[in-house]
Amino acid sequence: MADGIIADIQRASFHDGYGIRTTVFFKGCPLRCEWCHNPECISPRPQQLFYADKCIGCGGCAEGCYAGARVVCGREMTAAEVLEQILPDRPYYRDGGGVTFSGGEPLMQREFLAECIALCKEAGISCAVETCLLYFDEDIFRSLDFVMADLKIWDSATHKKYTGVGNERIIENFKRLNALAVPIIARTPVIPGIDQGIDRIGEFLRSLDNVKKYELLPYHSMGNAKRVALGEPLTEFSVPDKEYMKELEKYAYIR
Ligand code: SF4
Ligand code: SF4
Repeated sequence: MADGIIADIQRASFHDGYGIRTTVFFKGCPLRCEWCHNPECISPRPQQLFYADKCIGCGGCAEGCYAGARVVCGREMTAAEVLEQILPDRPYYRDGGGVTFSGGEPLMQREFLAECIALCKEAGISCAVETCLLYFDEDIFRSLDFVMADLKIWDSATHKKYTGVGNERIIENFKRLNALAVPIIARTPVIPGIDQGIDRIGEFLRSLDNVKKYELLPYHSMGNAKRVALGEPLTEFSVPDKEYMKELEKYAYIR
């Protein structure tokens, strides 16, 4: 049994797939999206965040911070411990709800992810993975009820500029995933000021039979405070307004 490193477990999410879901955030991601809303999930190791505005200068850091100014993100857990956290939520998984393994990139901890999925399935819980799709694991994908996969930018050089990697493998993996006949929810974070080619992405996604939904997610700045708390450089983007999003919706229909 492999231990995993989990950043957080959030209950009652309505944004990570169908129905009411519990979202398990894995540590570790191979991308470096400049707009990342979960920057504390990028490093595969536990990290300390320091929120200077919450520090009351009590000098008690060695005993642990009760003001919430210093927090550690990332704890080792077994798959059985993850299941134990999930089980109380099971009565709420109506209308196709269940667990979404997110991050970070859950496939960076493959063995542990497979164990978590197997235990949830044994308990009759629907499972999904939210992935950047740089990696591919046929057994894991086949074991899921659906996959949420991002295609952030169509042009590979622009993708590399803003995420640190080109998108050729991601596009190839979309085609491979489509061939497995596992339902796909495709997503693009909408970042004003970047030429993302959302029209081309929509066209590509409509050519894949198993993409059931294409969601455009407006950028928000909630990751900024965490980035500052991690001591990392910040790139600020503007938040798209309703008109901007409406204009793009015409590319996001599926069939
Ligand atoms: S324990 Fe927390 S509030 Fe007190 S000095 Fe340390 S960081 Fe600041
Ligand atoms: S793929 Fe997701 S978790 Fe990874 S850097 Fe990009 S936004 Fe952050």
